[in-house]
Amino acid sequence: MSQNVFQFIDVQRVDPPKKPLKIRKIEFVEIYESFNQNQVQMQGDRCLECGNPYCEWKCPVHNYIPDWLKLAKNGRILEAVELSHQTNSLPEVCGRVCPQDRLCEGACTLNDRFGAVTIGNIEKYITDKAFEMGWKPDLSKVVKSGKRVAIVGAGPAGLACADVLVRNGVTPVVFDRYQEIGGLLTFGIPSFKLEKEVMQRRRQIFTEMGVEFRLGVEVGKDIQFSDLLTEFDALFLGVGTYKYMKGGFENESAPGVYDALPYLIANANRLLGLEKSERDYIDFAGKQVVVLGGGDTAMDCVRTAIRQGATRVICAYRRDAENMPGSRREVQNAREEGVEFMFNLQPVGVELDAQGRACGIKVVSTALGAPDANGRRSPVVVEGSDQVLAADAVVMAFGFQPSPSPWMEQHGIALDDRGRIQAPEQSEYAFQTSNPKVFAGGDAVRGSDLVVTAIYEGRKAAEGILDYLEV
Ligand code: FAD
Ligand code: SF4
Repeated sequence: MSQNVFQFIDVQRVDPPKKPLKIRKIEFVEIYESFNQNQVQMQGDRCLECGNPYCEWKCPVHNYIPDWLKLAKNGRILEAVELSHQTNSLPEVCGRVCPQDRLCEGACTLNDRFGAVTIGNIEKYITDKAFEMGWKPDLSKVVKSGKRVAIVGAGPAGLACADVLVRNGVTPVVFDRYQEIGGLLTFGIPSFKLEKEVMQRRRQIFTEMGVEFRLGVEVGKDIQFSDLLTEFDALFLGVGTYKYMKGGFENESAPGVYDALPYLIANANRLLGLEKSERDYIDFAGKQVVVLGGGDTAMDCVRTAIRQGATRVICAYRRDAENMPGSRREVQNAREEGVEFMFNLQPVGVELDAQGRACGIKVVSTALGAPDANGRRSPVVVEGSDQVLAADAVVMAFGFQPSPSPWMEQHGIALDDRGRIQAPEQSEYAFQTSNPKVFAGGDAVRGSDLVVTAIYEGRKAAEGILDYLEV
């Protein structure tokens, strides 16, 4: 099919339509409809096929974007899906949750004047369509090496590592304390961004590829790390970051004040039918909710509260809209769904009712001071600006810090001063820790970041392991 080089002028960038608000506000389903082949052709044809594609460089896994766009627009889905899996272990996930405006699409040559090519949605389409057509990775020519690697953590880092290992004849055995694979893809990111079936389908595909999962097993509790060191040829740690950052204000441990992740996990457990007791579910139906924070986790909490039937949901953030770290797309989605945003407010304490439960959050106004070393302007308190926002529930979404386990240092795995596992990419074996048999990647190494960077590190660490095992 010949290319219309001026397609980007004739055809505007179009995103897939969103589901109607009345559905979005009550259902935990992905809000975007899928593209169809005709839309993929129209949108894919807008790609200029730049000689030096900036999108590829900005994509952390360096996807061959213009090449699979071209295959996809010509309907060559099976070739496109094979190509996209050469660089990415979970392309359908990245297509859904990557902050494309900061990554591939932000770097697209058309971005500034004409609107970037809709890369993420086409990436998602390719894999979803290929699965629909019955495609599965073909490992029939892989020769087994007899080597076995234990992977701790079934998040994107661990899964990406397993994907590369199994395609190279090494058997990965993945341990996770949860009953489902995906890590934060399943238990953090809500279904309105990534439906649970996406990872359940991947679990089946990985299992058929020869990845062994041992789920509901916590390393250090249900099985000792020393046993894994003895049993396996090498290990990979993709354990994430799970220490919740606190606000350090008065009454933040009172009933009615919640950390963001346990709230989201409880909701995911209900949707997955994994709830152990009804008391574990955190229900904001009929409540006034204030979420503190301005990142993607805060956006996920406010939008979950809306779907649970909260009467009023406020997102209070200490900087202004411009300085919010959350994806612009998700902030816009939250606004459309009825979330109120209040900026330049810093929490100073939780107000309690006669029973000692949270009934409000006291805040002070802030103004932005001089930029810090990273160029972000720090908030400065405005004297005498106290006010109380009424709230039956307060959610703290301040981010995460590394949460290393005691068994790491006991087995010679060095941490940096922030508790991150030290595993440099640029070393003889990529992402090897100070214990030569142990490799690591993802949030546990870089601090909490993105799905696609965790996938990159898991894949690169697998290459390091293959070199180390001389496979
Ligand atoms: P995780 O995904 O955290 O996986 C670690 C796994 O290790 C978990 O399953 C855990 O159970 C397991 N584990 C830990 N210790 C043990 C042990 N001792 N034994 C057994 N298992 C263990 N990124 C994006 O790109 N886009 C988004 O939209 C986005 N939204 C987010 C929303 C929320 C609410 C959160 C919290 C994060 C979000 N992120 C997003 C960030 C992204 O999810 C993470 O960067 C990514 O999941 C990190 O992958 P990982 O594999 O390193 O760790
Ligand atoms: Fe863009 Fe993420 Fe896909 Fe890379 S992996 S092309 S950054 S959506």
